[in-house]
Amino acid sequence: MPTPYWVAGKPRTSDSPVTVRSPYDAAVTGVTSNATAADIEEAVAAAAAVRDEVANLPAHVRADALDHVSRRLAERLDEVAALITAESGKPITWARTEVTRAVATFRWGAEEARRFSGSVQRLDTDPGSEGRVALVRQVPRGPVLGITPFNFPVNLVAHKLAPAIAAGCPVIIKPAPATPLSALLLGELLAETDLPPGAWSVLPMTNEQVAALVGDPRLPVISFTGSDAVGWRINDSHPRKHVLLELGGNAPVIVAPDWADLDGAAARIAMYGTHQAGQSCVSVQRVYAHTDVYDEFVPALVRHVRALPTGDPAHPATHVGPLINADAARRVSDWVADAVTRGATLLTGGRTNGNAIDPVVLADVPAGCAVVTEEVFGPVIVVERVASVDEAVATANRSRYGLQAGVFTHDLRVAAHATAKLQVGGVVIGDVPTYRADQMPYGGVKDSGVGREGVQSAMLDFTEPKVMVLTEF
Ligand code: NAD
Repeated sequence: MPTPYWVAGKPRTSDSPVTVRSPYDAAVTGVTSNATAADIEEAVAAAAAVRDEVANLPAHVRADALDHVSRRLAERLDEVAALITAESGKPITWARTEVTRAVATFRWGAEEARRFSGSVQRLDTDPGSEGRVALVRQVPRGPVLGITPFNFPVNLVAHKLAPAIAAGCPVIIKPAPATPLSALLLGELLAETDLPPGAWSVLPMTNEQVAALVGDPRLPVISFTGSDAVGWRINDSHPRKHVLLELGGNAPVIVAPDWADLDGAAARIAMYGTHQAGQSCVSVQRVYAHTDVYDEFVPALVRHVRALPTGDPAHPATHVGPLINADAARRVSDWVADAVTRGATLLTGGRTNGNAIDPVVLADVPAGCAVVTEEVFGPVIVVERVASVDEAVATANRSRYGLQAGVFTHDLRVAAHATAKLQVGGVVIGDVPTYRADQMPYGGVKDSGVGREGVQSAMLDFTEPKVMVLTEF
């Protein structure tokens, strides 16, 4: 029996089966099916029909539903984490971390649903507005289409569901084709709540189906997380929609000359340049090490990378598992080989085994190589010697991406200066850029996207201010 998908809160299957296989050993993880055209129409029509009802649901109803999902997800943590590992190849320890974060994301949704209130503004700051005050409410924009990638198949779905429901917007989730099963499991938990059936759907579909759906005028908000090529195409094709884009990155980290614990920095960079086989939008990709520390730092980095356990993602000790599919593994290997052909030094890694690649550290990489200019989305770390933090910042900024950066420094002046100058959505001081707290504003500049996630930030994006001006008579 295939895993059902969810149309306006009801389970359904179709005769378009989708077999989900482990990227590690191709074992069948499960079977679901793609939604039919009639199902998609039913979900959209239902979302449009309950638009006002969901907008007017009392905050306690929305919050209770999200609290329920959070609680049930915590109860089913082992099962959900195992499913993430089986369908995405994410090592089980990281899969458990992801579910723990998603539990918190839904809990934040519940809390923000209770708190989200708009504001009161005095207007008598200018002549002619004496005796006037504005009540500013955040009004839901309407149904949200949430399109999600494979690399965090539960928490990134949570980052669409929780703020949409908390803000009072119906929501339709289109999960990644490689990892639909964990999103469908979240549907099971939503089905246990009192939300009106039309308030949510989870619909696996083909890319052609979703490409057509983004143009539907009944879906005013598109919240997309995925590659920049697809995201910007959606944005550019639908200029009158509210399109929010959480896209790729090519995260830089700077090791400043004052950083004392070089071995510690090397250990963190090794771990977060390779975790999830580098398939994280803020995976460390480019390291700019100051010339004063470079010669001590780089051997430590190579040592730590070589020590990382690779292999079966179901094994609790495994740190680096497979890439999502053979095409991805081939692309990453080709980019590494191309860099080496053009003069780069391969310090470690690069051996392939199925869809897995032993983590790679490259030095002396010529500018213009894809491992520097593009998002590698694989376990590849490029190190570069720089003469100053200013040079590091300027080189980091040459990327077309701008999601997050990290700076290892104890010096507050360096931290403040680098934060001001780096063209990114966030800077992590004293650590790698691979950090996201689920309540903080998170997102990128330049090609990395537009808009911010983090439950409260997404709620602001899913709503628009509506003002009532009160006049003293
Ligand atoms: P992808 O762009 O291939 O797919 C993302 C989603 O878009 C999938 O659900 C896919 O089916 C759908 N899609 C494909 N074609 C479409 C179309 N024409 N119209 C509408 N939807 C379409 O990305 P992926 O390979 O699943 O994920 C990896 C990418 O996601 C990386 O670039 C990564 O950096 C990015 N990402 C960004 C963030 C962030 O928060 N900024 C987080 C995670 C991943």
